Amino acid sequence: MYIVQIASECAPVIKAGGLGDVVYGLSRELGIRGHGVEIILPKYDCMRYDHIWGMHNAYSDLEVPWDGGAINCSVDCGWVHGQLCFFIEPHSSDDFFNRGCYYGCLDDHMRFAFFSKAALEFLLKTDKRPDIIHCHDWQTGLVPVMLYEIYQYHGLENQRVCYTIHNFKHQGIAGANLLEVTGLYRQEYYYDIDRLGDDENATAINLMKGGIVYSNYINTVSPHHAWEARFTEVGCGLGHTLHKHQHKFGGILNGIDYNVWNPEVDGYIPYHYSQNNLEEKLKNKKALRERLWLGHSQKPIVCYIGRLDDQKGVHLVHHAIYYAQNRGAQFVLLGSATEPGINDHFWHEKQHLNNSPDCHIEIGFNEELAHLIYAGADMIVVPSNYEPCGLTQMIGLKYGTVPIVRGVGGLVNTVFDRDYDQNKPPEERNGYVFYQTDNQALESALDRAINLWYKKPKEFRKLVIQGMEYDYSWNHPGAQYVGIYDYIRHK
Ligand code: ADP
Repeated sequence: MYIVQIASECAPVIKAGGLGDVVYGLSRELGIRGHGVEIILPKYDCMRYDHIWGMHNAYSDLEVPWDGGAINCSVDCGWVHGQLCFFIEPHSSDDFFNRGCYYGCLDDHMRFAFFSKAALEFLLKTDKRPDIIHCHDWQTGLVPVMLYEIYQYHGLENQRVCYTIHNFKHQGIAGANLLEVTGLYRQEYYYDIDRLGDDENATAINLMKGGIVYSNYINTVSPHHAWEARFTEVGCGLGHTLHKHQHKFGGILNGIDYNVWNPEVDGYIPYHYSQNNLEEKLKNKKALRERLWLGHSQKPIVCYIGRLDDQKGVHLVHHAIYYAQNRGAQFVLLGSATEPGINDHFWHEKQHLNNSPDCHIEIGFNEELAHLIYAGADMIVVPSNYEPCGLTQMIGLKYGTVPIVRGVGGLVNTVFDRDYDQNKPPEERNGYVFYQTDNQALESALDRAINLWYKKPKEFRKLVIQGMEYDYSWNHPGAQYVGIYDYIRHK
């Protein structure tokens, strides 16, 4: 099959979170399975150009119809760790992708609507006719809409769309002017509640809803989150739409790219290890302490790696920092916050704990340090309010870092409580799970983990090994996506 991914991120060249990891990891897996894969991305000024090989101009003078006129684009092409990527660069005073950031601009909906249109225009003009177009999140929600309403009449009539929702929280809410500029002229038609009309705001269109309505198949990134999205508030108002389209909606767990996230080969960690030589993990723990100026004591290290925002349960992250230390553990946090209040809060904590031998707070995005923390820590907390899939607990498992998670979304599908899981036999359990959002719930799970580490080290080691034995590679999800592509191609 010939598959084109259209996305706003692809790790490691453009990565703000899990979406980037998924676009890269899935593409790689599809390639291994013998499919042709290309990735279309915006050409951001701030992406990691050092991860692109052989960048060259692939197409000039791509005229993308826009706002009654057209914007001229060039398209560069290069290899990102073996994956062929096309980078679209518009030349206009809007400077859509020269903003020094990936997201967070007031005109984000315009930026990504333009990108979606340019990607389709690129396929059309270059005679690329993929079997499958795979789009991701609200940024590319207009791709299936424009494909069906415009581009199928110009030559893209055989393409089928798989649309993956990584986060329901951001849906791309826009006004009528977005329809105008993209050439979707019949306002009333698109505002229809069965098309793009937002269920909660009659004056708005919802790009993610468009993606759901117009795609041939939609999935979110874990089976449990697929259920939550339909039946609980985490669908953020789209539950009804998902319900209507349930025949083409499902959940597929993300995978982890074990070429990148594998302690046996990880180029960022000083000592390679597997479940057979865990003493090497201990050396990474020592290296982590040296790197972060932590004390060398007989204590477990608990870590948190991730965005610092409401989704991730920051109030519990904050509590974990202090509670873990009170219970005789060290704590390492690596995170970044976009919300100024949360950012200030953690900077304040950092200053407060600056001289502590038992705690280090690192604010910012640091891929290299993340690897060392996964390798050096004993436990990782993931106390999310909601979590579509979650990668950090799966990476933690691979690195022998026991996850302590809240039982929501993909965390439910990947972490099984050592003491209480009902469905897995003891030898297949791999972490700790709590359910409520209060401090006590987190404390009880952290307590159990830290106690085991201190009082039954052999049992703790067993739990570590059981976790490392799980296969959360792309192998299984890759096969599921291929199954879906096949299904929508022949339907
Ligand atoms: P998200 O909701 O952000 O997509 P995921 O758990 O799905 O959360 O994916 C997070 C990914 O981003 C993981 O690969 C994690 O290691 C990485 N990550 C998150 N925050 C940071 C950070 N501050 N520095 C380095 N890597 C980070």
